[in-house]
Amino acid sequence: MPGSGLSVASPRTAPRSTAIEVAATVRDLQPYQAVSSLELIHQRPDQVPFKLDWNEATIPPSPRVIEAITAFLGNAHHLNWYPVLNSTNLIERLARFHGVPGERLLITNGSDQALDTVCTTYLNPGDRVLVPSPTYTHFLVFAQTRGAEIVPFYGPDPFEPAFDGLLEAATRLRPRLLYLVNPNNPTGVSYTRDQVATLLAAVPETLVIVDEAYSEFAGVTCIDLLQTYSNLVITRTFSKAYGMAGLRIGYALAAPDVIRDMRRIFNPKSVNVLAQIGAMAALDDQAYLRGYLDEVERSKALLGEWLTARGLVHHVTPANYVMIRFERAPWVVRMLQEQGIYVRDRSSQPRLEGYVRFTVGTLDQTRQILERLGEVLDRLEVVAPE
Ligand SMILES: *Cc1c(COP(=O)(O)O)cnc(C)c1O
Repeated sequence: MPGSGLSVASPRTAPRSTAIEVAATVRDLQPYQAVSSLELIHQRPDQVPFKLDWNEATIPPSPRVIEAITAFLGNAHHLNWYPVLNSTNLIERLARFHGVPGERLLITNGSDQALDTVCTTYLNPGDRVLVPSPTYTHFLVFAQTRGAEIVPFYGPDPFEPAFDGLLEAATRLRPRLLYLVNPNNPTGVSYTRDQVATLLAAVPETLVIVDEAYSEFAGVTCIDLLQTYSNLVITRTFSKAYGMAGLRIGYALAAPDVIRDMRRIFNPKSVNVLAQIGAMAALDDQAYLRGYLDEVERSKALLGEWLTARGLVHHVTPANYVMIRFERAPWVVRMLQEQGIYVRDRSSQPRLEGYVRFTVGTLDQTRQILERLGEVLDRLEVVAPE
């Protein structure tokens, strides 16, 4: 798919060091370009890092998470035994929390595993997967591994919803899956609950995945639509607002039959025991979550004002990140990195030329970041690099 920015096949040039060939569905895949700043951060122990490149929370999880895990580790046997199968302990808590029956829940090793499981369960080679784009590209690898055909959908403006166009594309293509990140990463584009309902009603044979990784920040969810629509899968995660990305835990909500289908291939041991314990404790501390959401909200307001005053093109999203366009994005990213600020250049994604994504954290962190960003921009105006 030239120009689409999706993974494309590149001819293999270097001789392989093994005679073993990979599966046909994998042969043409480019690995997901996972660029993490962790290594750079570890190289600079002298610096307080601002890790703003992966939309993780910028503060640790609730102290109750640490306490619960520490107490759990007090029993010497707790690591040599397998975890609670299928995380039924956490299912019970989440069922109460969301007000849904447990048979609608699948707990997974990060929400990425939920996405992967949907793809493995439902995709045949050649099936079409409609993907409002640009979006979270890791999903594409899961779908492509099943031999599916990715059909990206682009609206006229990457930062505006294009509901009518999306509805038209979905009804015309009748895809097997539709992958909607809501609010979208990295653009922040959001569709309302009513729009999602219209979409679900229009394509009853399409399984619509609504990825709600940032739902807590946006305060919007489609969970209540599960009662009406059996072609809806919602994925959620503890990696973002709850600050537990390192523990790897997320979940899917869907019709009981969909959950049962996914369990056919799902490994009931795949969620580790510390993640289960941590997630239950995190759910119990909603005050801590609300405190963080409030900080992020106030930081976004400050960022918006500051960026407007500086005359920078930017988009403050309903999630925990902002997109900012720079004249020389790679240079700005490099200069910020020298100051210990790690952000994500999204220029390589189609229609996002010059855009850099900044994860938003606490107000205090945001003030420090803006001070350094201001200095970098002042230098950008003086020197004319490259
Ligand atoms: C971060 C992110 C995820 C990954 O979540 P994990 O639960 O850590 O696997 C999934 N979807 C989107 C859109 C994300 O931005």
